[in-house]
Amino acid sequence: MTENTAQASAKPETALPSSAPSNFIRTLITEDLRVGKHGGQVATRFPPEPNGYLHIGHAKSICLNFGLARDFKGTCNLRFDDTNPVKEDVEYVDSIQADVKWLGFEWSNKHFASDYFEQIYGHAVQLIQLGKAYVCSLNAEQMRKYRGTLTEPGKESPDRDRSVEDNLNLFDKMRKGEFPDGAYTLRAKIDMGSPNLNLRDPALYRIRRAHHHRTGDDWCIYPMYDYAHPISDMIEGITHSICTLEFADHRPFYDWLLDTLKTPCHPQQIEFSRLNINYTVMSKRKLHELVVNRHVSGWDDPRMLTIQGLRRRGYPAAALRDFCERVGVTKKENCIEMAMLESCVREDLDKNAPRAMAVLRPLRLVIENYPEGQVEEFEVQNHPSRTEMGSRKVAFSKVVYIEQEDFMEVPEKKFFRLAPGQEVRLRSAYYVKCTDVIKDASGKITEVRCTYDPETKGGWHPGIRKVKGTLHWVSETHSKKAEIRLYDRLFSVPFPGEGDTDFLQQMNPQSLEVLSEARVEPSLMEVAPEASFQFERQGFFVADRMDSKPGKPVFNRTVTLKDGWARENAPNVNSKERE
Ligand code: ATP
Ligand code: MG
Repeated sequence: MTENTAQASAKPETALPSSAPSNFIRTLITEDLRVGKHGGQVATRFPPEPNGYLHIGHAKSICLNFGLARDFKGTCNLRFDDTNPVKEDVEYVDSIQADVKWLGFEWSNKHFASDYFEQIYGHAVQLIQLGKAYVCSLNAEQMRKYRGTLTEPGKESPDRDRSVEDNLNLFDKMRKGEFPDGAYTLRAKIDMGSPNLNLRDPALYRIRRAHHHRTGDDWCIYPMYDYAHPISDMIEGITHSICTLEFADHRPFYDWLLDTLKTPCHPQQIEFSRLNINYTVMSKRKLHELVVNRHVSGWDDPRMLTIQGLRRRGYPAAALRDFCERVGVTKKENCIEMAMLESCVREDLDKNAPRAMAVLRPLRLVIENYPEGQVEEFEVQNHPSRTEMGSRKVAFSKVVYIEQEDFMEVPEKKFFRLAPGQEVRLRSAYYVKCTDVIKDASGKITEVRCTYDPETKGGWHPGIRKVKGTLHWVSETHSKKAEIRLYDRLFSVPFPGEGDTDFLQQMNPQSLEVLSEARVEPSLMEVAPEASFQFERQGFFVADRMDSKPGKPVFNRTVTLKDGWARENAPNVNSKERE
């Protein structure tokens, strides 16, 4: 013990990276280590049920459990809590592993609760022998009635005092498949009068003839989650069993079970509040519904807050880890603004994503006095503050494309972009002044004409005269077409499904817009899937990891730029004048 204490007390200070904010769990573990509890060890686990894809809420639990193991030099297991075969599948097992790795974590060991089925069964036999469990013939409906309510005590099952011998015999027959599904359950014998409903003789095993994705048809009885979970934790030598708040009421059973079995290891259950984010849904049931009914293209649809969806949307793993750290770990229920998640992503990409020019909705701009056939190449920095990211050559010619929204024939007040008679800067190229507008028969603007000032080469000449607007552009002959997908929030209300509303009725009809006429710099044609860019003045985009192909890129908008449309166009903002 003394040894452990000495060893432990040195640990937390050195292991805790300065960036990790403290929280009540860290404080508690630090104290446990100081007094040498749990043998001075920290062993956590992330225990998903493989019945769906992981979402951003799971990311919080992953960052917490793996983060504690990392910072306290302990271990963190990945454990699949696969005790309910009906909804589970290897597809989910595979995606969960891929997601944990992509988030940047490595498990110490990978386990499946189903690997412990024999041991879990053995402990049930032990409970029967101790007179702490019995086989009960009440059906589900009767069980519910007998359980009582929060204000009324429960009623004891007529089978409660069955002999140990009879219980052992019946339980053995349950396992051997001698009874139909639902005929019997094995229940813990605790206290039908307990104010905690979870202690009113909870079920430990049910008969269920279901094919398990790992154990096949070996078993026709399966342990209940509440029973299997503490035993799995104990088998793995978990010290701190971290879960979300709704399990607080289950903790007395967790402790009762391990105390009754007098297990050598007794993990400490600690609850924290789950992550909730507005403008989204996070329950697996709802995510399933979105996928199955094809409201989205799949689990990895970039509008989904699944890890796969976020990844495909272009959210960097580091930004998600940063977000999970910033939301913190508390016991208070709360709801985090989607804007906070977006801001973590923006911050990361602003630092790391190279810049490029892409025109989403092109408008032809003809520079009348620019020599026909002439091409100039401008050297453009890939990142405004990171010179190590290098530069590239961007070709300029007589016809360029600008955004349709960067031109107004009759400009509003404070519209400092292109308009008849108005001068703007084409980023890194020249100042141009609008001279003419060409329309088709229906009155739609098809082309804008302008003249350029050769004295303003490079686009940065405040000494000559100041211009207020800076536009991005691409050369007509050099740019290429690309598909750009503009994603927005999937729901148009902050709390979809709140009260009696149907969350499916609250989907944002504008959550996806596909632009097939967008034009991009030629340098973007061969980008690798998952490469991120800031398209100047438009936002951050990523090459779609499924659909983007060399020569035929597809970009997803990850997030818009912080300043949005209005500020973006205020005088001098985002123009070189400021740099
Ligand atoms: P189910 O609806 O199937 O119970 P679940 O969201 O609880 O889904 P699990 O696979 O059981 O999914 O979760 C694995 C772990 O992730 C659990 O420890 C759970 O507490 C944690 N977790 C799940 N959702 C959140 C969330 N929103 N915030 C924080 N942790 C979460
Ligand atoms: Mg769960």
